[in-house]
Amino acid sequence: MDFDKLMQELPAHVQDLFERGRIASYIPALARVPAHKFGMTLCRLDGSSHRVGDSEERFSIQSISKVFSLSLAMGLVGDALWRRVGREPSGNRFNSLVQLEYERGIPRNPFINAGALVVCDVLQSQLGDPKRALRDYLRLLSGSQDIDFDAEVARSEAETGFINRALANFLKGHDNLHNDVDAVLDLYFHQCALALSCSELARATLHLANRGVAPHLQEAVLTAPQVKRINALMLTCGTYDAVGEFAFRVGLPAKSGVGGGICAVLPGEYAVTVWSPGLDPSGNSLAGGAALEFLTAVTGKSVF
Ligand code: GLN
Repeated sequence: MDFDKLMQELPAHVQDLFERGRIASYIPALARVPAHKFGMTLCRLDGSSHRVGDSEERFSIQSISKVFSLSLAMGLVGDALWRRVGREPSGNRFNSLVQLEYERGIPRNPFINAGALVVCDVLQSQLGDPKRALRDYLRLLSGSQDIDFDAEVARSEAETGFINRALANFLKGHDNLHNDVDAVLDLYFHQCALALSCSELARATLHLANRGVAPHLQEAVLTAPQVKRINALMLTCGTYDAVGEFAFRVGLPAKSGVGGGICAVLPGEYAVTVWSPGLDPSGNSLAGGAALEFLTAVTGKSVF
C-alpha cells in the first residue's frame, strides 16, 4: 500500500464536506477556526509517517484529551476507577444531565463529560499538580516539549461551561466527586484546551497500536491489558452517540473532539489523526469521519 499516494488523493474525496459541517460555537474561542482547515497524519509501526494538509497546525483537542486523562488515572488507581464510572456506550449526548440522574451519579463511561469529570477528580486526588502532570504526559507521548494549554480556549470554556458545572455539582451531590468542584472543573477545562497537531497526536497515540509500547520512547507506557481496555472504550464510546455508525463506516477504535479532531488506531499497524473543524450533528468531524472511512475502505483493513 502506497500511503503517501493515498494521503495525496484523500482531500479531493472529502473537501466537499468542509463547509457542510457546523463548527462548535458553544465554546466561543472554537468558533473562529476556519472551516477549510484539513490535516491528517498516519504513523505506522515501521517508523514511517505520512501526512497531508494542515497536519502540523495545532488545534484544540477537546474530548480527545479524555483518552490521556483516563490512561493516567488507570495507571494511578487501577480497577478502583470502575466503581465510580461505567463502561457502556451512552446513546445520549455527551453532556446529558438526564442520564446522570437516572444512573444516580455514576457516569456511563469515561468519555462522556460526566465520566471525564470523575476521571479529573481522581487525578486531582492523586497528583499534586494534575494540570502539569497531564500536560507533561502529552509532551512525553508526543515527543514535543512545547505542547501547552490554549489559555484563551480554557477561559472561554470556563466562561460558558454551565452544563459542565451542573454535571460536576450533580456528581458532588451524589458523592462521586471528592474534591472542590471548581478545582475539578478547572482541570477539565484545561485538559480540553490542550492544543496539538495531527502529527503530535498520531505519535502520542501510537502506543495504542503497539500493545502499550511507544516506539519513539522504546518503552511501555501502558500494559497490554490497559491498551485493550482503552481501545475497547474508544470503539464503543469514543465518538459520542454515533459510535455504532462510526464502527459501521470506519471500523477502528477512535476518539473525537468538538475541535474537529479524530484519533484512531489499527492495532499492529498504525495510529492516525485527522482534523477538520466542521462537525456532524453528533459532534464528530464530518470530513474527518469521511476521511477515515476512505482510509479503511481503500486499504481494506479495519479491526473487523
Ligand atoms: N470541552 C467540551 C465540553 O466540555 C468537550 C466536549 C467534546 O469535545 N465533546 O463541552
